[in-house]
Amino acid sequence: MTCPICQKPSVPEYTPFCSKHCKNVDLLKWLNEDYKVPAEPVALDEEES
Ligand SMILES: [Zn+2]
Repeated sequence: MTCPICQKPSVPEYTPFCSKHCKNVDLLKWLNEDYKVPAEPVALDEEES
């Protein structure tokens, strides 16, 4: 299984994510989509090509 955020191998502790960071990134995405609040700029490690 790979991390849906950065495509790295996932870690059991944070499955399906590879790290706490990616888990938080995913959580923030959901929060932003759900509540449509003017979110503060969050420094994320965007690794999209
Ligand atoms: Zn990741």
